[in-house]
Amino acid sequence: MVQISIRDLTKRFGGQTVLDHVNLEIGQGELFFLLGPSGCGKTTLLRHIAGFYRPDSGQILFDEDDVTRLPAHKRDTGMMFQSYALWPHLNVAQNVAFGLEERKRPRPEIEHRVNEALELVKLAGLGARKIAQLSGGQQQRVALARALVIHPRCLLLDEPLSNLDAKLRHEMRSEIRRICKEFGLTGIYVTHDRDEALSMADRLAIMDSGKLAQVGTPEEVYRNPCSRMVAEFIGETNFISGTVQTQTADGFYEVQTAFTTLRARPHTANWQPQHGEKVLLSVRPEALTFGHLLDSPNRFPGHIVDTTYLGTTVQYLLHLQDGTQLTVCEINPQHIRPPSADEVRAMAMPQDVVMLKAD
Ligand code: ATP
Repeated sequence: MVQISIRDLTKRFGGQTVLDHVNLEIGQGELFFLLGPSGCGKTTLLRHIAGFYRPDSGQILFDEDDVTRLPAHKRDTGMMFQSYALWPHLNVAQNVAFGLEERKRPRPEIEHRVNEALELVKLAGLGARKIAQLSGGQQQRVALARALVIHPRCLLLDEPLSNLDAKLRHEMRSEIRRICKEFGLTGIYVTHDRDEALSMADRLAIMDSGKLAQVGTPEEVYRNPCSRMVAEFIGETNFISGTVQTQTADGFYEVQTAFTTLRARPHTANWQPQHGEKVLLSVRPEALTFGHLLDSPNRFPGHIVDTTYLGTTVQYLLHLQDGTQLTVCEINPQHIRPPSADEVRAMAMPQDVVMLKAD
């Protein structure tokens, strides 16, 4: 169990700054996710922590130890990649044993620890199998056992589940989380998949062009995104431009938009928007409902132009009088509304209308 501190880390490849003064503290036993668009620097950051890259400036600490210049094989990190990187000519046990052989551990200890690791990933008894005789999910479990067998100081995972089908991915998500928590392992996990990050992370960072755009718990980042980029990366949302009018007695703000005045809250209590300030509102589709609460402040008319039934949810495209289009998502739909020219009324609670600085 290790605390990882990243201090002012900068890396350039050619003329391109890929990591731009990154500062981050990852707590002991924390499962931390790096999320962001392709090319934002997630893998580069992970590879610096693993020891495959040297930064141009900045430091990486494992607890009090400065590991910035320590070679990868001396950092005791367990790695797991998208490509399982297993050796096809070795059997399961030999693949898992590799890190211990390298460390020249005695034979009985290797056997004991390999069996222990295979049991942990629910592959007990499969040590003699050839890699080609395993399913994709089982191969990924071997890769996890191989990362764990060395009793790593931390576990580094780079898109480990993206080759698996949806069902296996779900299974492995909870397995990886269970193992990290059971052993108090500090884990850093790179992914494109926001559901994976939201469902597994203790905390996560959204990266954008080599910088950390926002760091927080899944709930903090989903409910209080600090920018347009973060709001749309972490989930579906509707953006509505507006101008701040007044602050209400209950701490919300009246924002004039093209179709109505909406009551909204700033994404952070540290920001007090001024009268006349241009802002951007973010309203998640599931925060919009077809309202019947007559006294709700955020209630406005429109009509449904498209309906998509998705089983657990139904998505509506709502067309408003001024031409604005909003997506509304109803969970556990009981009654599917077909597209129609008839007027419907949509509403959102003021706490679900999040005010961001205009771009
Ligand atoms: P993805 O999600 O697509 O894997 P990422 O966020 O992990 O992307 P990185 O792999 O860290 O992104 O790459 C960040 C940028 O650095 C990219 O523009 C990439 O082309 C560049 N880059 C990465 N590794 C190298 C390298 N060894 N040499 C030169 N450029 C590199």
